[in-house]
Amino acid sequence: MRTIPQVRAWRKGLPAGTRLGFVPTMGALHEGHMSLVALSKAQADRTIASIFVNPLQFGPNEDLSRYPRPLENDLALLEAAGVDALFLPAVEDLYPKDASTFVVEEQVSLPLCGAFRPGHFRGVATVVLKLFNIVAPDVAFFGQKDAQQCAVIARMVRDLDVPVEIVRGPTLREADGLAMSSRNIYLSPEDRAAAPAIHRSLVAAEAAFAAGERDAKRLVAVGRTVLAGEPRLKEQYWEARHPASLAPLVTVGPEGALLAVAAYLGTTRLIDNLVLGAG
Ligand code: AMP
Repeated sequence: MRTIPQVRAWRKGLPAGTRLGFVPTMGALHEGHMSLVALSKAQADRTIASIFVNPLQFGPNEDLSRYPRPLENDLALLEAAGVDALFLPAVEDLYPKDASTFVVEEQVSLPLCGAFRPGHFRGVATVVLKLFNIVAPDVAFFGQKDAQQCAVIARMVRDLDVPVEIVRGPTLREADGLAMSSRNIYLSPEDRAAAPAIHRSLVAAEAAFAAGERDAKRLVAVGRTVLAGEPRLKEQYWEARHPASLAPLVTVGPEGALLAVAAYLGTTRLIDNLVLGAG
């Protein structure tokens, strides 16, 4: 379905009481996306996905124009997975030329990616609320790979009384630990070989935590050292934060911690994270 009225009509036509699951994506689908579809298939009666490369969440010097758009392949994957419907909106339909209303979350969107991608989470929150208003799902599925995005959406849904349940799916990884991402195809063979150091840096900090380290600065230092050991990787941030509020941490307490990394390989920016458990 390409238009908003088509989706609204499809939604209205579902039997009363149907639990509708929604998996919003930007396409270039991989197993990470498909794991969210599988979660929705398991937890909902019907599943709708969307593919929309949202211009509002890209900065002026980011990769909007080169973002991969392998639509035929995406359609085949969704069809094989048994998705019931797909929403493929056009930019002009979703954003009237004089659109002037946006969703701005003012706490969890500020650190980490928010500090380096001004306007990014405003774009994410705005498009997700719009998609929720169009699709009217009962439950929506997001990947832990984008932990801060999950936090922003959970906060928005709570603060604005949006009647959608948010479910997080775990991060799917390649065999060498690299988090699956539509952006991995940008990597040269050399950069692809260097990329798993991002995950290794998280695992090293996790090992220090498991060995009893609770000092956030020291955990971060462990991770940074591993990342710096791969010279092709340029750290943008490597931080330990409260897993829900994303507030800075001095010590990892009973609520655990989110370890979050962003790093460049050439012009490709990759992110990853890991949650340390309680205690
Ligand atoms: P994107 O198409 O990158 O906007 O991602 C669409 C959804 O898939 C988001 O909820 C992402 O967090 C999720 N996702 C992306 N990569 C992964 C992954 N490696 N594992 C699990 N979920 C992912």
